Amino acid sequence: MTDAPQQDNSTYALVKRLVRESVRPYLAWIAFALVCMACVAGATAISALLMKPVINDVFVARTESLLIPIALAVIVTFAMKGIANYGQSVLMSFVGQRIITDTQHRLYAHLSTMELGFFHRMPTGNLISRFTIDINMMRAAVSNALTGIGKDFLTLIFLVGVMFQQDWVLASIAFIIFPIAILPIARLGRRIRKVTVNTQEELGQFTTLLEQTFQGARVVKAYGMEDYEKKRVQEIAERVFALVFKSSRIRSMASPIMETLGGVAVALVIFYGGSRVINQSMDPGSFFAFITALLLAYEPMKRLANLNASLQEGLAGAQRLFVLLDMKPEIQEKLAARPMVIAGGGLEMENVHFSYLPDQPAIDGISLSVPAGKLVALVGPSGAGKSTILNLIPRFYDVNAGRITIDETDVRDVTFDSLRGCIALVSQEITLFDDTVRANIAYGRPGASEDEIIAAAKYAAAHDFIMDMPNGYDTYVGERGTKVSGGQRQRLAIARAMLKNAPILLLDEATSALDTESERHVQAALKKLMKGRTTLVIAHRLSTVMDADLIHVIDDGKLSESGTHAELLAKNGIYARLYQLQFSDQQMAKQARLQAAGE
Ligand code: ATP
Repeated sequence: MTDAPQQDNSTYALVKRLVRESVRPYLAWIAFALVCMACVAGATAISALLMKPVINDVFVARTESLLIPIALAVIVTFAMKGIANYGQSVLMSFVGQRIITDTQHRLYAHLSTMELGFFHRMPTGNLISRFTIDINMMRAAVSNALTGIGKDFLTLIFLVGVMFQQDWVLASIAFIIFPIAILPIARLGRRIRKVTVNTQEELGQFTTLLEQTFQGARVVKAYGMEDYEKKRVQEIAERVFALVFKSSRIRSMASPIMETLGGVAVALVIFYGGSRVINQSMDPGSFFAFITALLLAYEPMKRLANLNASLQEGLAGAQRLFVLLDMKPEIQEKLAARPMVIAGGGLEMENVHFSYLPDQPAIDGISLSVPAGKLVALVGPSGAGKSTILNLIPRFYDVNAGRITIDETDVRDVTFDSLRGCIALVSQEITLFDDTVRANIAYGRPGASEDEIIAAAKYAAAHDFIMDMPNGYDTYVGERGTKVSGGQRQRLAIARAMLKNAPILLLDEATSALDTESERHVQAALKKLMKGRTTLVIAHRLSTVMDADLIHVIDDGKLSESGTHAELLAKNGIYARLYQLQFSDQQMAKQARLQAAGE
């Protein structure tokens, strides 16, 4: 992942980008919504204007013939306002929800191009909260801004029009007050954005922590760390509380400013307008139309004053989303990448260097080969770099120097699809998705037929235990499904790889001990899986090591020895030492088993 280019976080730049990337496809819908909002604004202005004949003709002049027409006009005006309001709110919620969904698609599609290292670096909770909280805030900002600008702003303009038409001096008095409010309210908006960005960061950490503690509930309980975790969760929840409270306090500060100014404006209007009605230079109808317009203008004006706050909150969300969207994947397919053509599937590493972190080489100039169709084992102490080698072949990471080839083609010259398509990976940590057994096996080849899935399961010695499950192949496994044992998990993973039927197999043997029966099943399944494929295995089992056509011993990021089991034993080097250690461990385990059986 390369860092995003420096982002312009000014309100103008963020709004411009939001409009360009998210709002533009919906301009026609928004135009319709704006027409509806203009109707709401017009109807609101008319309802204020209606006060004039109500007061002058009905209450003062007592003209009975006008009662029905005025009542009808009121009904029509309010019905028009209601219908237009319905139209604008349906259209705006459509646009708002579409923006959420489109952005979720776009973000997920972008994230799926990121290299594996990105997902290791980025806390999961942080990523999830961008999909939920940030996107929602962005939607709220867009629809509030549009409704604010459309409905409230237009309503305000129309009502101000009514006021000026009734009495321009009075209108000037009422409105001279409000520009005073603009400066402090803009400052509140900026503070809110800052607090919101911090709140989002904390919420991301909160989600990550919750996820970790729930997933690791076993470890938490085993080590009696409930209180420790409770304290950590409490601390972060308190920090979120403080930030959210701070933001709502800042937001509420707009209210006393607007209420006080509103009161001053109304008082001035009553004082000046009232004295003009008293000395008969203004008729009471005009005064009431004016004061109705002023009171009706008050709500939209308050909402407009708050608009900046919610806009800034949404921009904080957009800002965080844009950072993710602007990150470029470090590992990319070449423009001229071609599909990989497999002849035998022979692998070569040529003077490969790689480090996860600068100046800490994990692979330090390794050259080794995995001949086509052979079983090659990687052995070596923990942390030597064996898993790293496996990660470099499907380009989960790219080499820093040197090259890796498959059938003499550099893995960086071919498409991701074809490269990963010709490799089956069975790792120690087996992921079963929250889905049926069938879907979990078919993950190896979506679209595989029922017969193929069952054949793969039979090969992997998984068919029998699957049939014993409550719903056979339709049984749900994974986090919320039926639990499967360690050995069964491995056999499902083998079935998945079997179905994929890739010419190259990368295998990280599980270290966790299985009981003898399971072990035998898994071993038999693995043997079948390896047959006829180029297999590179991180070997932990003696049987695998001894069966291997070639063994590479990795030590501290370097290749220290290569050869067959017999050759390496004869060398009496690292391998011979590792072998002796494992061998005596196994002997001891065997003895213990025999003893237990004897008792
Ligand atoms: P083991 O047998 O214990 O799994 P290994 O031989 O497979 O060990 P690797 O996992 O390849 O060893 O690790 C090689 C080196 O790279 C180690 O020093 C390890 O700490 C480091 N390393 C591995 N993964 C990462 C990572 N994602 N980020 C940074 N360093 C890493």
